[in-house]
Order: sequence, then structure tokens, then C-alpha cells
Amino acid sequence: MVCPSASGESWSRSCGGAEWATTRVAVDGRPPLGGTPKVFVITGPSGVGKGTLIRGLLERLPELELSVSATTRTPRPGEEHAVDYHFLTAEEFEARVRAGEFVEHANYSGNRYGTLRSDLERRLASGAGVVLEIEVQGARQVRAAMPDAVAVFIAPPSREALRARLVGRGTDSSEQVDERLRTAERELEAQPEFAHVVVNDRLEQATDELVEIVRAAMDP
Ligand code: ADP
Ligand code: 5GP
Repeated sequence: MVCPSASGESWSRSCGGAEWATTRVAVDGRPPLGGTPKVFVITGPSGVGKGTLIRGLLERLPELELSVSATTRTPRPGEEHAVDYHFLTAEEFEARVRAGEFVEHANYSGNRYGTLRSDLERRLASGAGVVLEIEVQGARQVRAAMPDAVAVFIAPPSREALRARLVGRGTDSSEQVDERLRTAERELEAQPEFAHVVVNDRLEQATDELVEIVRAAMDP
């Protein structure tokens, strides 16, 4: 059996099952962050509704904070530096990778994205639960670095719905939509790796399901 791998991660017997790895080490040699589940990873293909669901989650559970990622992507109209992302040049991003400043990072659709350790640790230190909205490669790295993180895969009701949402959002060119949908095919294959899967069909129901997963993990 060929199992997907991420740096520093070793997989349990059945990597297709919804199990975390049996042996976990930090991605960069540092000790894993951990303790009570405080880090919530929301993953799934672009356009599936992660951002929309997270807005609902934060409204319902205001004790949570959303981590602000770094990216080399160009800001979209209305996006603000340090609010939506830390927008970095390719050189700045690479320098911060080399300095070990990322908990996880990945290439996605020709750009780089990553979670800054400083951003995450500052929020955790303030006592907040922290939500990471990241793609699948990053989710795998977080799983390796932070075994107590709770990861939720958001799935579309259908491929047609995913395309319609990406097109309807109006933020990507048709070439970018096609590229994101190609990536989505690979990401959808990762779904069985996740213990929690929420199908975002009816938004209200999906939000309820996500809130319940997070609430149960915070207050077992
Ligand atoms: P992601 O953050 O996963 O890339 P978004 O939250 O930006 O996705 O959602 C993509 C588009 O789909 C947005 O226009 C959003 O309003 C829409 N959307 C989100 N959830 C639903 C849903 N359950 N039904 C229909 N449209 C949705
Ligand atoms: P977008 O360009 O639409 O903002 O984001 C593209 C993809 O990158 C989305 O799936 C989003 O969840 C993901 N992403 C955003 N921030 C991060 C991050 O810090 N790390 C990783 N690995 N993915 C991210």
C-alpha cells in the first residue's frame, strides 16, 4: 500500500482509515505543541466554503481566533495585509522557511502559503482556541507537528457544486478555476484520512455540524 507522506510523519497501519499517525514528531525537530485540543484545522478544496463556514463558527464560538497565514499570492481587491494574509514576496517567504518560522507551508496553484509559528503561538498564549484554514498538504504537516490538533475536512456535495461556487465567487480567472479544480481532485482523495468530514451542502446544517465537532473537542 502506498501511503501519502509528509515530512516528519509516519503513518499508522492503515493510512486510508481516519486515524492519526501512531508515531508523531515535529516537522522541524521542535517538540510538538499540544495539550487540550486548541488548534482546529479546517481543510478541503478551494471554493468548498471553508471561509464561509469559519465565519459562522467564529460567530457562534467567539472564544476562537482565526490564524492569519502568510502567502506569496497577490492580494485580491479588498484584502488587507496582516488582516487577510501576511502578503510576502517569494524571497521573504523563502527566508522565513529557512529560518524555521513556519509550522507548516505548501505550494498551492503556483503560490506559497504557510502558518507562521509566531502568529499561532501568540494566539494560543492568549488562551484562545485557534482555527487554521489551510489546504491538505499543510493539514498533513500540522497533524505531524501537533497530534492534538482537531482536523475537519470540508467536502462539496458534488464536483459541479464546487465548480459553481468557485466560478460564482468571482475571485479567480477561468484558468485559475480550472487549476484549482484539478488540485481539488487530488485533495478530495485525502478525505478518508480525516476523522471529521463535513459535507457543505446546506450551509446552516454544515455550520451546525462544524460547531458541534469543535465544541465537543473543546469541552469533552
Ligand atoms: P473556500 O474558503 O473554501 O475557498 P468560500 O467560503 O470562499 O470557500 O466559498 C466559496 C463560494 O461558495 C462563496 O461564494 C460562498 O458564498 C459559496 N458558498 C459557501 N458555502 C455554500 C453553500 N453551502 N451553498 C452554496 N454556496 C456556498
Ligand atoms: P486562497 O488563494 O483562495 O486564499 O487560498 C488557496 C488555498 O490555500 C486555500 O485552500 C486555503 O485554505 C489555503 N491556505 C490558506 N492559508 C494557508 C496556509 O497558511 N497554509 C496552507 N498550507 N494552506 C493555506
